[in-house]
Amino acid sequence: MGKPTGFLEYMREIPTDRPPLDRLRDWNEFHHKLDEEKLRRQGARCMDCGVPFCHTGKLISGMAAGCPVHNLIPEFNDLVFRGLWREAYARLDKTNNFPEFTGRVCPAPCEGSCVLGINRPPVAIKNNECSISERAWGEGWVVPRPPKFRTGKKVAVVGSGPAGLAAAAQLNRAGHAVTVFERADRPGGLLMYGIPNMKLDKRDVVLRRIRNMEAEGVTFVCNAEIGGGSVSDIEPDELLATHDAIVLCIGATQPRDLPVEGRNLDGVHFAVDFLTENTKAVLSGNKTAPAISAAGKHVIVIGGGDTGTDCVGTSLRQGCASVRQIEIMPESPRARQPGNPWPEWPKVLKTDYGQEEAAARQGADPRAYLTTVKKFIGEKSVRELVAVEVKWEKNQNGQFIPREQPGTEKTLKADLVLLAMGFLGPEQSLPGQLKLETDARGNIKAAHEIHRTNHPKVFAAGDCRRGQSLVVWAINEGRAAARECDRALMGSTLLP
Ligand SMILES: Cc1cc2nc3c(=O)[nH]c(=O)nc-3n(C[C@H](O)[C@H](O)[C@H](O)COP(=O)(O)OP(=O)(O)OC[C@H]3O[C@@H](n4cnc5c(N)ncnc54)[C@H](O)[C@@H]3O)c2cc1C
Ligand code: SF4
Repeated sequence: MGKPTGFLEYMREIPTDRPPLDRLRDWNEFHHKLDEEKLRRQGARCMDCGVPFCHTGKLISGMAAGCPVHNLIPEFNDLVFRGLWREAYARLDKTNNFPEFTGRVCPAPCEGSCVLGINRPPVAIKNNECSISERAWGEGWVVPRPPKFRTGKKVAVVGSGPAGLAAAAQLNRAGHAVTVFERADRPGGLLMYGIPNMKLDKRDVVLRRIRNMEAEGVTFVCNAEIGGGSVSDIEPDELLATHDAIVLCIGATQPRDLPVEGRNLDGVHFAVDFLTENTKAVLSGNKTAPAISAAGKHVIVIGGGDTGTDCVGTSLRQGCASVRQIEIMPESPRARQPGNPWPEWPKVLKTDYGQEEAAARQGADPRAYLTTVKKFIGEKSVRELVAVEVKWEKNQNGQFIPREQPGTEKTLKADLVLLAMGFLGPEQSLPGQLKLETDARGNIKAAHEIHRTNHPKVFAAGDCRRGQSLVVWAINEGRAAARECDRALMGSTLLP
């Protein structure tokens, strides 16, 4: 702790953003950067408390409290304060393969459990992480580090999201020959086709990392679905026969549907399909319009989470006529409630970039709470939808369920409807072909930190094992699965 009085002298400061109406004109990231002196002051705010909680990554009341990859936060904050950036990067690299991703998109459970956060704004941990990482890339400290020896073992990683990338990076580091099979045309999973470019730049950030991994010796094979059933696909048996182990990181890609009247009308799409087509168009230089476009349309996004926010921001950038967001849950409180004390994840109202942008363009927050959709109306394509207010009430089994409130129906214009209501676990085809056990929610059965499935050669990590989650948990799982896979292959492991 370089500056014992830092937390008394300095207030929390995070970078400002480009003004909403300005950033809506492009697809670029929109956070400004803090200068060196300000960053060092933010490092100085860390109290290096006797018992820090920021790095614990424990589940409390079902939510992450502290950093799931156990970043050495008080250490790197101190090194930032002292201007020892290279050493700070060395600390970060010990625990997190991809701080440039988490520094941009992590919701920062570390900050929710920062001790300073009990009575002051928490340390700006996430921005410090991002700044250390970008400094390291900028200074040329992130260089390919191929392993010094090869073990002769071959591992297939299926899926190239953050779990697959973390597993591949670690297994390669241990000396195994790693091939990542990805069915999409580009690697990255939801880092590439999910989270939009303005939150996480695809060429400058995601592909930069992939290129570095390739230079370290990881092979990426795209347009390669394992067990997809078409001629060009690779059969799971073939993969098992040609590799010593397989790590499945296939994500939780089954979106939750809304099977109400009119669901099959044109213009009703799953959010990730819309976001994927948009990123493809952005990466092609917007030479052609995206296959699903919001331009000139009245858009309704159903779902108030991160995915919904990304749909709002994307629709606005595409030039929609209007955008609204419908959420079945009530509005969160503005401050922590007594039942949600520190160091739990604070369940408070979050106004994210998409809502800020909608408010700047349309004059109001786009969200309607305690509302659901009863039906979609149109002939061939959707034109309108009927929304209705709900109240959460207990049923005879004591479970809370949403009950429609009679007389609250409203008909809303809707030329494009985006379903962003969460995910129902992994697709079942590949786990089924490998005869893997799944749990009650359809996730691949394998204990956290062990990651072994019932098949002796197959491991599982990320959203396909834990259910829809976060990038930082995917990295945690990919690293742990790599460690256990290495142990199984070699009899012991040095991987963390
Ligand atoms: C729109 C959106 C925004 C999000 N925003 C955030 C955010 O801001 N912050 C955050 O922390 N989290 C966010 N998340 C969640 C986060 O992206 C996921 O938790 C994380 O990507 C999961 O990583 P994963 O590697 O397990 O799976 P994924 O990233 O889903 O990757 C799985 C990959 O496996 C591939 N695959 C599947 N089956 C096969 C097969 N049979 N053969 C070959 N390849 C296959 C898929 O094509 C995919 O590329 C967001 C999610 C969405 C949908
Ligand atoms: S990965 Fe997330 S939780 Fe961990 S230090 Fe970074 S922002 Fe915090």
